[in-house]
Amino acid sequence: IVNSLSPQEIHAQMMNPQSTFWKEMVDYLESVHQGEFIDKTMTEVQNDVAYAASDPDYKDPTQTLPEAPPYPCNHQPDVKCHNCTKCDTWWQSFKNNVNDLLYRSNIHSCGDHCTVKGECKAKFPRPYKTTVDEKVGYIILKKLETRLNTFTTTLTYLLRSNPDVTSLLSGTALKSVAAYVTDYITETPLKTYTIFQTICDVFNCQTTMIGGTLRDQEKARKLPTQIVNSLSVRMEMGAPMAAAYLLGNPDHYTSHRFRTVYWKSYSSEVLKDWDSTDLDQLAENDNPNPKDQVVVKRSREGYTAYTPIMDYIYRPKPFKDVCLYDWIHLSRKKLLPNIASNSDASQTGTAVEAQEDSRAKSLIHKT
Ligand SMILES: [Zn+2]
Ligand SMILES: [Zn+2]
Repeated sequence: IVNSLSPQEIHAQMMNPQSTFWKEMVDYLESVHQGEFIDKTMTEVQNDVAYAASDPDYKDPTQTLPEAPPYPCNHQPDVKCHNCTKCDTWWQSFKNNVNDLLYRSNIHSCGDHCTVKGECKAKFPRPYKTTVDEKVGYIILKKLETRLNTFTTTLTYLLRSNPDVTSLLSGTALKSVAAYVTDYITETPLKTYTIFQTICDVFNCQTTMIGGTLRDQEKARKLPTQIVNSLSVRMEMGAPMAAAYLLGNPDHYTSHRFRTVYWKSYSSEVLKDWDSTDLDQLAENDNPNPKDQVVVKRSREGYTAYTPIMDYIYRPKPFKDVCLYDWIHLSRKKLLPNIASNSDASQTGTAVEAQEDSRAKSLIHKT
């Protein structure tokens, strides 16, 4: 990024708490995540929520959707402007809403779940102000409310639940995030014995249903559903991923699709047309196994040998002058409908590929 400082330069700047850089950096960091209610203490918020909840029209914010803000005016704030007043009201309700949500969902109360030897694992309570470690320049951001974790107000407003937002900066937190993410990405598929264990567990848990009065068809439908559900829980597979798979959507997004080119067999095929010993030598060095490897296919007409390069050689007449590169990347192989019905479909072996590219529609060819 042009003009951006190196981590070393940032570090040097952060060592001087009097500098404007220090002030602006801390302001920025404090604006993106915080650990206290907006402009209020916990007791004040507690009273506010209790008061608001006494109104019969009051709705629990965790059960409602966020409201979009009005378009901001492009002039200085003006008390006479109708839209300015609307904005003010929106911001006020935003703050109340966020405080309410935080009070409902982000308060940490210690109990058996978090205490180890009388001390809270989550290190609550912990109030402190923003400080910078003088020796290493590490920034510890302020957190004024003892029983709150850290969050971003906008995210809380939008998600209406308990998000946990932490400034990573550097140090152990960043390392543990990297470890956490790689743990997820490298998640291995289930071991065979775990799969069988899961199936067995479902059977054991469902003995009443299996021996019950339901129709056999219904039982047969319910069991696999439960097995699949518990398998996908074990695999920690997300619902969107399962849905994408069922709907036949790809599990990743990509800007390019690649096609395989059988270059070696193609080039040795081409070299066959030269008699020169030099070229023979070259071809042999290049290809340690000069004998053509073919796939033998059976059809009504008998056995035929097939190699992928036949797709490059035996093209329909109109495409005989298309350059190989264009031919490979634009053509798609498809089973011709009449061939499929006339001969044993499983033996023709012609790969059927979905039409990926409309440009290629006219280039359908038969091997
Ligand atoms: Zn205005
Ligand atoms: Zn605790």
